[in-house]
Amino acid sequence: MSSPLLRWGLVLLFCLLAPVGFAKEAKVRRAKAKAPRLVRIHSGHRLHRDAAAAFERMAAEARTAGQPLLVTSGWRSYQQQRFLWRRYRKGLGPKAARPGRSNHNRGLAVDLVVGSEEASPTYDWLAGNACRFGFRRTVASEPWHWEYRPKSTSAPEDGVDCLGRPLDVEPSPAVVRQDAS
Ligand SMILES: [Zn+2]
Repeated sequence: MSSPLLRWGLVLLFCLLAPVGFAKEAKVRRAKAKAPRLVRIHSGHRLHRDAAAAFERMAAEARTAGQPLLVTSGWRSYQQQRFLWRRYRKGLGPKAARPGRSNHNRGLAVDLVVGSEEASPTYDWLAGNACRFGFRRTVASEPWHWEYRPKSTSAPEDGVDCLGRPLDVEPSPAVVRQDAS
């Protein structure tokens, strides 16, 4: 007598709970899709794979120019960011963004050794060249913090660097040969 009722009860329960289960599964899938795909860069730190590829190209060119880029921080987990943020709040560490709010958590920010002042050769190289690789400085008080923002960072015009300073134009080999003959 109670069995049809029980059956309908179970069907009703399933109809009520199934969407919750599906929604939860979708949420997990979305979170996984959102998690940055990390790639290790030469320093051992990790960055989002697009940022990592651009960074390695930039680092290779910097090295050739005699300004090797030393990384002190790349991707940070939520827990690492929370640790830094709490230290900052207690006045025990340098400024740190709230966990989840830092581009370090997305693998899109990198901290570099730029020397103690902005006039350092490494900083100067970054200021003049980083934009060509989609990187730029985003925090006024942090000359070491560079972010990969390719969509909003435009490459310089021909003949000038990222600060608009004229480049030393080297004659191409073809021109040199022409001059020699
Ligand atoms: Zn940073």
